[in-house]
Order: sequence, then C-alpha cells, then structure tokens
Amino acid sequence: MIRSGDDYRESIRDGREVWVGGERVKDVTVHPAFKPVVDLRARLYDMAHADATKEVMSYVDEDGERNAVPLKLPRTTDDWRAKRRAVEAMMDEAGGVVTRVGDETVGEMWSLYDGSEVLAEIDPRFAENIERHIWRVLRGDLFHVSANTDPKGDRSKLPQDQDPDMLLHVVRETDAGIVVRGAKYETAAAYANQAFVKPTIANWGKEELSDYAVGFVAPMNAKGMKHICRSGFAGRGVEDYPLACRFDEVDTLIIFDDVTVPWEDVLFYRHTRAAAFIRGTLHRYSAFPYVHRILRMADFMIGAAMFNARQTGLDKQPAVQEKLAQLACYREGINAHLTAAIADGERSPRGLLMPNQSLLYTGRVLACTQLPAMMHLTRELCGGQICVTPDSTSFRHPELQPWLHKFYTINERWDADDRRKLLAFARDLVNSDYAGHRLTFKLFAQSPPFAHLAAVYRNFNFDGPLRAVKKSAGLSDKVMAEKPRP
Ligand SMILES: Cc1cc2nc3c(=O)[nH]c(=O)nc-3n(C[C@H](O)[C@H](O)[C@H](O)COP(=O)(O)OP(=O)(O)OC[C@H]3O[C@@H](n4cnc5c(N)ncnc54)[C@H](O)[C@@H]3O)c2cc1C
Repeated sequence: MIRSGDDYRESIRDGREVWVGGERVKDVTVHPAFKPVVDLRARLYDMAHADATKEVMSYVDEDGERNAVPLKLPRTTDDWRAKRRAVEAMMDEAGGVVTRVGDETVGEMWSLYDGSEVLAEIDPRFAENIERHIWRVLRGDLFHVSANTDPKGDRSKLPQDQDPDMLLHVVRETDAGIVVRGAKYETAAAYANQAFVKPTIANWGKEELSDYAVGFVAPMNAKGMKHICRSGFAGRGVEDYPLACRFDEVDTLIIFDDVTVPWEDVLFYRHTRAAAFIRGTLHRYSAFPYVHRILRMADFMIGAAMFNARQTGLDKQPAVQEKLAQLACYREGINAHLTAAIADGERSPRGLLMPNQSLLYTGRVLACTQLPAMMHLTRELCGGQICVTPDSTSFRHPELQPWLHKFYTINERWDADDRRKLLAFARDLVNSDYAGHRLTFKLFAQSPPFAHLAAVYRNFNFDGPLRAVKKSAGLSDKVMAEKPRP
C-alpha cells in the first residue's frame, strides 16, 4: 500500500505529546517548527501517486499491491539501483537534502530480518514479531525512525550504580508486555509514526542477561511518552536561510516514563548476545542511504563553489581549478563507493542483497571524515562575502537598494539579486548554525566515528594483504594461522 501526503498528516495527528521551546504542540502538522518538514515529507508520499514520479517511487508486488520502492526488501542489484533513483528523485523534488525521511532507517529492520534465525536461537519468543514488523512497515508505508542513543550518564559507573534510567531499561513485566523507562535521542520522531528502539553501543562485559538489553517497536504516541524537541531552525526567513527554513529535521529527546510495550512489539529482550548482535549489524543496509545523502551535499558544495568562482572569473585561475577538482574527487570518491557497493553486493544470511560491506563502510568513513574539510574548502572558494552580506530586507529597502545593487552586481549574467541568493544559499550550506548542525548530524547520527571505523575493521578482508606480504617476504605458512587478537 502507498499512503498519500494527507494520509501521513492524519496519521501523526494522534494525540502525541510534543514540546518545543517550552510550548506543548497541539498539532505538529501546522506548528511552524515542524510544518516545513511535515509538508515536505507529505510531498514525498504524494510522489508515489503523481504520474510523473509514480514509477520511480513505487512498484507493484507479487500480490498486485503497490508499495514504496525505498521500503522494499532488497534482493537484487536492480532493487538497489531503483532505490538510488528514488532517493535522487526525492532530493530533486525537495530541492535539498533530507536524511531522516524513513528510507534511511528502515534498513535497520532488514538487519533484524537477517538475524532472525540467530535471534530465535537466543530467545525464540520474538522471531514472529520481527517478521511481522518488517512487513507492517512495508505494507503500511510507515514513517519509521531509529532510537539508539540514551543520555548515558556517568560511564565510569555501572547503570545500576547511578540513576538507573540514564540508559533505557525494563522496569517490570506484565501480562500485556514490558514496561520501559529511560530516554532516547531521535531525529524526526515528533513527526514520524514509529521507532525501532534498541540499546546504544554498550560494553555488556560477561553479563548474559540484562534489563538494558531490550529492542522493540514503539508508536510515537505511546502513553507515557514525551517528545522534548530542540528549538527549530525554521522561521528565520526563507530568503536568507533557504535551507534551514525548508529542511530542518527536528531532533527529539524522547522520555519513556513507564511506557508499556505490548509483547507483540518486543523484538529481543534481556539477552546481551542479541543486543550485541544487533549493534554489530545495524547499519549493513542503512549506511547506503546515509552516505547517499552526502553525495548530494557534495553536489551542492561543488555547485555553490563553481558559481562563485565563475561569477568573478576566478575559475580561470589554475589554483582555483585545483580546489574545485578536489571537491570533484570527494564527490566521485563517494559515488564510486556507492556504485561499487551495489555492483559487488553480497548475499545476506536470509537471501537479501547487502551492499558490499567493506566498500560501504569504507565509503561512509570517506564521506563523513572528509566532510568538514570539503565544507571548509567550499567556504574558502565562496569567499568571505557569505558571512558579511546584508539580509534580503536591506536589498529591498528603497534607500539601500541602489547601493547594494551597485556593489553586488557583477556583470550582465550576475545581477545583485542572484548574487545575494547564491551567497545566502552558500552560507546556509557551509556557514550558518544550521550548516554546523548538519555537519554534527553526519558526524554522529549513524553512530560516532569510532564505531564507523570499527565497522570497517570487522568487514574489511585483511587476508588478501596478508597473503601478498607473506608471499613477497617469503614467510612460512604458519604465520597465516595466527588468530586476530581480540
Ligand atoms: C544531529 C544529531 C542527530 C541524531 N539523531 C539520532 C537518531 O535519530 N537516533 C539516535 O539513536 N541517535 C541520534 N543521534 C545520537 C547519536 O547516535 C549519538 O550522538 C552518537 O551515537 C554518539 O553518542 P553520544 O552523543 O552519547 O557521544 P559519546 O558516546 O559521549 O561519544 C563522544 C565521543 O567520545 C569518544 N568515545 C566514546 N566512547 C568511545 C569508545 N568506546 N571508544 C572510542 N571513543 C569513544 C568518541 O570520540 C566519541 O565521538 C543524533 C545525534 C546528533 C548530533
């Protein structure tokens, strides 16, 4: 089934308790902090119905039902190419980068699907729940987000030795389900339908069972749940902050104040081995759409820098061309990893097609670690005017306009109005508080950098380089038998 934008809007008018700036939000679909991104998400839903985009955004399944391409379980390279096209179409329609609109988090459920046999061995009670939830998201066209990160507290102490709620945990079991208490950070939760809640990266030590090892699906209007959102970037004037005002994906601290999770929504419980397994495989699919968004950010940086260089004829300078080429190398480096990860995909334990894991995780490190340097290079190429230019109201003011037009008009192609717009765009891309927020999002939202490198370490095949050195250095066979140190 595919939902319309209005179906989506209706689905989030469900009595959820949302707060922003100390204000209780009655309806997230109309509140100024959320409306731009809710409208955008609704437009993306409508794309699956519109004649021009229907075929790229949806497909007909074996039961004759039309479903959303981004939510489809990937089984072939063509499925991945279709997903890539759908995300490109979404970002073309949006005119900007939105990451947490569902397709980028649904893959966490596919990892669970892959692991359902392993999880059933650990605790057979929940295998059916996993399977049912996978299909529920697809068939219900749900907007599904991700909840991993707790406030954590003092990590030199065990959770039990401080306020135990610093990490989300089970406080009791009832016939109806488990009751959980704690808090999680979640982007987009206030306007999504549900989240896959699971433990953050944790050192489980030798404990086999823990009240903290729990994973479940929670609706965003559950009784006892409070969304306390950070203040929004929207509303500052779209002419001066064209990205912040349209693409702010508001983050939430969700409080779970004794929330009951029905047994049918529990995906794993108490077994630390299950929790560790989930953490180890969580991003095997979802890293792809996460990195894909950075490709579009790279395109925006190249476009902004190149327009700025061309305006003033700086693109003729070899030193400037080199810097533009560096941005192009970054962009194509990401593109190469994404393209090759699909072309060289790997079969998962349940028969899905995973992007090549080593290429995907190394691509994520390339894209995320180089992003600050590339933003800085863009800032440099755009010049200091991105942070000193007066705002749009000054450009329209009758007394100021002649001066600003005089000093911001460059030639017959670039009048003052276009120059101001480009500078405002570039500022919001690499220099504004929203730009800084996006950079931090890419640093952390799919786990912190050390976890990205740990994923590379676990997935890169070190045997090839070892064999090459063994042969070339004439080492004996026994060196290959050495087990990696824990
Ligand atoms: C904009 C934004 C959006 C987010 N959206 C979501 C979301 O939708 N869902 C969600 O679940 N989470 C989300 N997060 C949270 C994100 O997952 C966490 O910020 C991230 O996992 C890091 O956790 P932390 O902030 O608690 O930092 P910490 O765990 O305190 O880590 C801070 C730093 O300490 C060091 N460090 C900590 N532990 C280790 C270690 N074991 N080994 C080596 N170094 C270590 C590293 O340098 C690390 O970067 C979001 C974060 C941001 C900033």
